Amino acid sequence: MKLLEPLPGEHLWSVISRSATWSGFSYDSLLKEKYDLSSVLVYPAKGDCRTIAKLAKHAEFASLRKENSPYPLWLLNFDDEEQTATEILSDLTTRTSETLIVTSNDWRYCVKCAEEDRQQHGTAYWHTEHNLPLVTHCTKHGKALVKLMDVKSLKALKMPNRISAKVIVGTEDEELMQWSAFVVEVYNQLRRIPNFNVHLRQKVFEALGIRKDVHGQLLSCAHFNSLLDEFEASLPKQVLGHCFQFYADKTRK
Ligand SMILES: [Zn+2]
Repeated sequence: MKLLEPLPGEHLWSVISRSATWSGFSYDSLLKEKYDLSSVLVYPAKGDCRTIAKLAKHAEFASLRKENSPYPLWLLNFDDEEQTATEILSDLTTRTSETLIVTSNDWRYCVKCAEEDRQQHGTAYWHTEHNLPLVTHCTKHGKALVKLMDVKSLKALKMPNRISAKVIVGTEDEELMQWSAFVVEVYNQLRRIPNFNVHLRQKVFEALGIRKDVHGQLLSCAHFNSLLDEFEASLPKQVLGHCFQFYADKTRK
């Protein structure tokens, strides 16, 4: 089976889902036999791109994973790309600290984008930008995204104009809209500028006063607490509550 050409800004799993539906191939034969992926690993948890990283050895995914998935954002977790390829992928059963950042498993779309896509391309589809971790709004239309909850497999990832399951309409919120625009901008810079992840990591490490020994172990984090105070002072409560479960807990001390 040949993968379909991705539509503008289409998420990689959306491309695979459309390709499988269109070709009539089963997901098992497509993913397991051709790409050596067990369907369990295709759980579309968007904070974790190990499955997408694993596809890198297949030529057809070289540009797809960078242009059509959250992979560039995920690289912010690592010192270099080679490290992801060797250490992370050598043991897919072990959870690394980087992958413990859990984001939701809902898939999100914009009603206006879906309508435009349907008119222009004959189908709505899942956009990467709408499904970056912690994004809540469409930056093109300034609208809260609609959520398809608890998607457990690619089979359940029907295109937005063909969903029969219940969806949840997000809440309009200016602060979350601005936050979404920030995440999308960082993502687009990571895609455009080579090694921008290394540059951003250095900046963050400098700001936090992080020092490491020769083995990469953390030695000290001098400014961490003062930076947290700054963080709390400058980010709206709504955004903190959205990004960190901790802030949503009103009983916390
Ligand atoms: Zn939109």
